[in-house]
Amino acid sequence: MARSRIEPPKRQGLTEPSLDDLLASIRACTLCRDNPLGPPLPVTPRPVLQLDPRARILVAGQAPGTRVHASGQPFTDPSGIRLREWMGINETVFYDPACVAVVPMGFCFPGQDAKGGDLPPRRECALKWHNRLFTAFQKPDLTLAVGLHAVRYHIALRGHPDLNGPALGPMVENWRAILDATDVMPMPHPSWRNNHWLKKNPWFGLELLPELRRRVALILKKQGREVHKGGAAV
Ligand code: SF4
Repeated sequence: MARSRIEPPKRQGLTEPSLDDLLASIRACTLCRDNPLGPPLPVTPRPVLQLDPRARILVAGQAPGTRVHASGQPFTDPSGIRLREWMGINETVFYDPACVAVVPMGFCFPGQDAKGGDLPPRRECALKWHNRLFTAFQKPDLTLAVGLHAVRYHIALRGHPDLNGPALGPMVENWRAILDATDVMPMPHPSWRNNHWLKKNPWFGLELLPELRRRVALILKKQGREVHKGGAAV
């Protein structure tokens, strides 16, 4: 199967639909049901994302799993609990669309492989929607790119494909340079599947996460939201 490369948007010469129009079209999308680039989705398409133009923090994840597909709300699973811990915020802040946008690389649950692992995000999604979406959405102050697909896409989107690497680990290790150049924080997925990697790389908790929490709190403070111990906000 031919694999076309997902390019970041060209910002000139596009007729730009409004964000509201795009979101309405995305929520009605059934493209993968009809199998353009892979097997049909194993479930009825249910795009899951959270996007409001006021949000200055973007969480760019992979794709919904079974629990998120069932709830229709992003990160309603153990990975979400860990991700909010990493960010230093609670559910109230995370699910306030004026604070946090959540835009995965694939909006619908892609199905599972023979070992029960989630399949990668559907490529149709980024090819059809993401460039248009990120043309309409003002660049956020901070992007948490969670997982390889999101890291690569968002680094290239900010005009720094030179900072992309062959694997996620080295890119997360290079987080300071990537963050300085792009405002993208490259992150592993908060899934339990990465427990071994997290254990082997204690600098992630000691160095990266404190900086992540500092930046998240600063952005929320600029929006008039104070983050207190435990992630509560007012
Ligand atoms: S994964 Fe994306 S492209 Fe595919 S049906 Fe869902 S919204 Fe449409």
